[in-house]
Amino acid sequence: MRKKFIIGNWKMHTTTAEAGRLAKAVVDGVGMEKHVVIAICPPFTCLALVGEILKGSHVSLGAQNLYPEKEGAFTGEISPTMLLDVGCKYVILGHSERRHKLGETDGFINQKVLVALAASLNVILCVGETLDQRKAGQTETVLDRQLVHGLAGLSADTLPRLIVAYEPVWAIGSTGHHAAPPQVQEAHAVIRRRFGQMFGEKAAQSLPIQYGGSVKPDNAAALLSRQGVDGTLLGGASLIADQFMAIVRAGISESRTEEQST
Ligand code: PEP
Repeated sequence: MRKKFIIGNWKMHTTTAEAGRLAKAVVDGVGMEKHVVIAICPPFTCLALVGEILKGSHVSLGAQNLYPEKEGAFTGEISPTMLLDVGCKYVILGHSERRHKLGETDGFINQKVLVALAASLNVILCVGETLDQRKAGQTETVLDRQLVHGLAGLSADTLPRLIVAYEPVWAIGSTGHHAAPPQVQEAHAVIRRRFGQMFGEKAAQSLPIQYGGSVKPDNAAALLSRQGVDGTLLGGASLIADQFMAIVRAGISESRTEEQST
């Protein structure tokens, strides 16, 4: 049975004081919970502080990006070594905001994925289509391209450290659009099938595929109960401890139901 991953992407939010309060609330709320994998991804400026707060807890630390070099003259960038140094276990790569607002290409994302995995970080690779692409019937082609290019050259031994997050761009944030659970299930099946063609059926069945895009306490259970939905990547809801915890509880409840039925 695949575990469920509930991961918060704080994006460009929180001062150190706010981050400290939010991280403590999450640690207290999660307690010794082990049914689901929980991580939070604060901005770079708060990683060290939040890393200290998470020590000894069941909440892991993640980063929102990295630069694909060990060190050097890359002004303003952060390396995998630096992320490991402050206790990061996860890194989000290929987020649609970086693809569409900052112009990251599949090739550049692929470099980051390879370097992050080689450094023993767990990678959350985000993929997803825009509204225009969905309307034009291109969803499968876009997912296919992002997977094939983003995961080019991956070696089999690194696959256990990979998570894919399906994040339709049109459903992220306050767009007014929500992906319906059947649409999410269908896209996850497309991703798992394509991944299977690339890396084999066994690897595809082990791959955690999270959903991200306006997940809130009131729709989390309906999404998490769908076949092939192995967790949620949360933006807005991860900034409010009560909402984040409500979604963690939905994940726990769904994991227990799945455990009982296997
Ligand atoms: C995201 O940007 O990864 C995300 C899922 O955001 P939100 O939950 O706010 O839609």
